[in-house]
Formats: sequence, C-alpha cells, structure tokens
Amino acid sequence: MPELPEVEVIARGLHGTLVGRSIQSVEVPGLTRLSEPADTLVPRIMGCTVKRVYRRAKVLLIEMDDGLSVVFHLKMTGRVVHAVKRTANKHDRIMFNLDDGSQLIFSDMRKFGYIRSFAPGELDTWDFLQRVGPEPLETGAAELADLVRDRKSVIKGLLLNQSVVAGVGNIYADESLFRAGVHPETRGNRLSRARALKLFTELQSVLGQAIAENGSSIRDYVNADGDAGSFQNSFNVYGRKGQQCLTCKTMLKTSKVAGRTSVFCPKCQPKQ
Ligand SMILES: [Zn+2]
Repeated sequence: MPELPEVEVIARGLHGTLVGRSIQSVEVPGLTRLSEPADTLVPRIMGCTVKRVYRRAKVLLIEMDDGLSVVFHLKMTGRVVHAVKRTANKHDRIMFNLDDGSQLIFSDMRKFGYIRSFAPGELDTWDFLQRVGPEPLETGAAELADLVRDRKSVIKGLLLNQSVVAGVGNIYADESLFRAGVHPETRGNRLSRARALKLFTELQSVLGQAIAENGSSIRDYVNADGDAGSFQNSFNVYGRKGQQCLTCKTMLKTSKVAGRTSVFCPKCQPKQ
C-alpha cells in the first residue's frame, strides 16, 4: 500500500500537470464498491476545473475551482495516472477526459480503493478526516512524542494507528524503528523521552528522504508519471527478512506485531 511519501509524490506530480485542466467527459468502466456511486459522482465533477492536488494522510485530494473536493484512497493497488487518452483496460474504474485531450485515470486491480466527492465546505465533516491524527512532517518531534508517552500499546501499533499519526504504514514504521534503535514491541509508555524524540525525528527523516527519492517502488507501485521510485534501495530492514543487519551483521528477525510482519535487528533494537 502506498504510504505518505508515495502519495505525496503522486500529489506533487499531478499538481504540476492537472492545475487548470477541466473535466469535459467521464467514462466509468466500473467503480469499486467503496466508491461514491457514479450517478451522484459524475454530475458533480462534470465541467469542474482543477485548482490544486494535495495529500492528507494516505489520501490524495483534488480541489476544484468551485470548491468541490474529490478524494482518492488508493489502498492496496489503486493508481491515479494523468496521461494521454486511451481506451479503458480491465482495471480502470473511472476516467476523466480533460480539455487538452489528456486523461486522468483511476485504476485499481484489487478494488479496495475508492473515489468520493465532497461539496464545498463538506470535506471537513468527513469522518476519516475527523479521526485522522496529525501529519508527521508538519508536527514537531516533541509533540509527536507526547502522543505516545502515556500509551500502553506497542510502539509499532501506535505508529500504524492513523488516529495517532497520519500516513505511516509498515515500511516507514519498520525503517524508523530501526534507525532509532527501538524494538517494535516496546510499549509507548516504556519509551524514554530521548528515545521517543529520536524515533519521531528518524520518522520525519525517513519520510522526507523517501519523498526526495520519489517514493518507494514496492510491488507494483509507480508514481503519477508511471516511474518507479528509488527509495527501496535505501531500506535497512523492510523486505530484508533473513538477511544480515547492515549495521552489526546480526541476522534480522521477524515477528507479528499489531497484526503486521515486523522486521528488526534484535541487537540494534533491544527490547525495553
Ligand atoms: Zn543490528
């Protein structure tokens, strides 16, 4: 699943090419189950002009010049690509034909993603946005550390919990825990202040680095231009199960934490 950096890279790419484009017609080969039905979605977006494309948590948002918001949650295999017009393939869910002859396509092979629209002023009432925690790159490390200080849950679970902090998934949780030397099963309230500050500083650093390197290219993820990112070359632990720690050469271990497979170094990330 694309995490914060991947969605940020997609949003920046789309912002650069979509602003000012208007939607002239819409094709709906078949929306996903969690999407808004086409009979309300399509009339709302017809004729709209794109004002900006941005990201909140792992959600991609398009703001139209009349104040309408269109949101995409990509989940496992969703993609939003702006490209030259083509005919629909079997994974395409909705296609917007734009005024310059180009096309914005939402495709989703496994169909867990969705597209929805919000009338002007309604976006803030979306329960998703009301529940989601702060953006890790727009919040100080000390403030983020405060969010886990009194929590009895394991830190890996807290990092993945979107109501604690937004946009972090398995990849960047494991990478930041490794960089900070924190065992994924450490409880939030057992983390020293210094270690918690280190963890969130490393989280910010790894997210920023991934954005700078165009997102990771896990599985079939590609950015809005169709390019695979290069960040996977920088992983210390994610996807390296059974290999040696790059720091100390100890064999990396895995365990199921908060329902997800965690890869960590038992020596660099001792249990606390
Ligand atoms: Zn190690």
